[in-house]
Amino acid sequence: MREILHIQGGQCGNQIGSKFWEVICDEHGVDPTGRYKGGSSNPSDADIQLERINVYYNEASGGRYVPRAVLMDLEPGTMDSIRSGPYGQIFRPDNFVFGQSGAGNNWAKGHYTEGAELIDSVLDVVRKEAENCDCLQGFQVCHSLGGGTGSGMGTLLISKIREEYPDRMMMTFSVFPSPKVSDTVVEPYNATLSVHQLVENADECMVLDNEALYDICFRTLKLSTPSFGDLNHLISATMSGVTCCLRFPGQLNSDLRKLAVNLIPFPRLHFFMVGFAPLTSRGSQQYISLTVPELTQQMWDAKNMMCAADPRHGRYLTASAMFRGKMSTKEVDEQMINVQNKNSSYFVEWIPNNVKSSVCDIAPRGLRMASTFVGNSTSIQEMFRRVSEQFTAMFRRKAFLHWYTGEGMDEMEFTEAESNMNDLVAEYQQYQDATADDEYEDEAEEEELEG
Ligand code: GDP
Repeated sequence: MREILHIQGGQCGNQIGSKFWEVICDEHGVDPTGRYKGGSSNPSDADIQLERINVYYNEASGGRYVPRAVLMDLEPGTMDSIRSGPYGQIFRPDNFVFGQSGAGNNWAKGHYTEGAELIDSVLDVVRKEAENCDCLQGFQVCHSLGGGTGSGMGTLLISKIREEYPDRMMMTFSVFPSPKVSDTVVEPYNATLSVHQLVENADECMVLDNEALYDICFRTLKLSTPSFGDLNHLISATMSGVTCCLRFPGQLNSDLRKLAVNLIPFPRLHFFMVGFAPLTSRGSQQYISLTVPELTQQMWDAKNMMCAADPRHGRYLTASAMFRGKMSTKEVDEQMINVQNKNSSYFVEWIPNNVKSSVCDIAPRGLRMASTFVGNSTSIQEMFRRVSEQFTAMFRRKAFLHWYTGEGMDEMEFTEAESNMNDLVAEYQQYQDATADDEYEDEAEEEELEG
């Protein structure tokens, strides 16, 4: 069995992480006490629910399923409310690791001071879980990049794990900050310092951009004042969709490495746009029912992307789609081919067959069919540009820098993070402009010179 170890950190990470567990417990028929209750009238569904349950759950004595999850924070509040929430009893109590100091939205506190003090206790728990695995495939981390704990301490943990488990995969669900839902002005600093880390130490990052999540809630779902609960509803649906291929049998991209191999043509370009269809607000699912052509159309639509970047402003290097529910595989294949044929200029022609799709029988709760889209699009540079501009505006004047240098950070790290993110933007642009003939032209020139 190829296990995944889940880690959630900070307020946002813990909130979206615990929603993720609620959703997947329900999909696998596990109740809040960890017991398998099934929940489908179709007996063959039970096999599907349980066949790969060990990817995310440990089996404890008495047949209880316990999430292979580590929860960390620098303050107790969020974890207290998880513990007293509906699924609070399902987690292993020893796996709650928390401090009292808080990170005050300061990346340096999470990465270098307060977080660095707590990190060894987190690593102890991680190690214990890893040792219990038959063959760990890798880790998934849920965090925000705009605060101090998920962001600073989250990336510290990621780098420590990379050091200790260099050959295991690291996937992140990273929430990018937006002024539309932001708490503080320094979020672009925290996010840029984090991206600098994620470029080097993560294998695959699912980008969840609060700006796009807010826009979806406001424009498409017509919620006039979206709350984190509303944003997180979109996130948990997306996380369930993205991990569906890892959790159920017989899927394309059935482990973290296969997913990475199919989606990442160049190692630094591992930040994915994720789309979901149909979009629903909390409690409204049951009214929506779509056909395969409608699902396909919507999931490629810029309005359905969880990242504020328009795919039509760039090109797809690769993409992967997961359809869920009972439907015709043939129809799915036809629709997907159809999209690519009609939009061929939006796919780089130098990676043939760069779109893959698969179908999983089990639909998410409340929907007859759904689809999730994971794309490696050069247009994601728009989102990095947005954060970079906000970063630079402040950094030019060294505004708020004393909060970071006060924790012992060197200004140099800001400069490096800024240029690493700008390089990333430039790399996306380079591959956006690349054509199939570039290389060929170079060769032709060389031949000419030689001749
Ligand atoms: P930490 O506890 O120090 O890691 O800080 P937070 O997780 O509160 O980080 C602040 C950033 O996360 C800001 O950009 C917030 O908008 C965002 N954030 C906080 N809580 C949530 C949440 O529940 N959902 C979403 N989508 N974003 C959140």
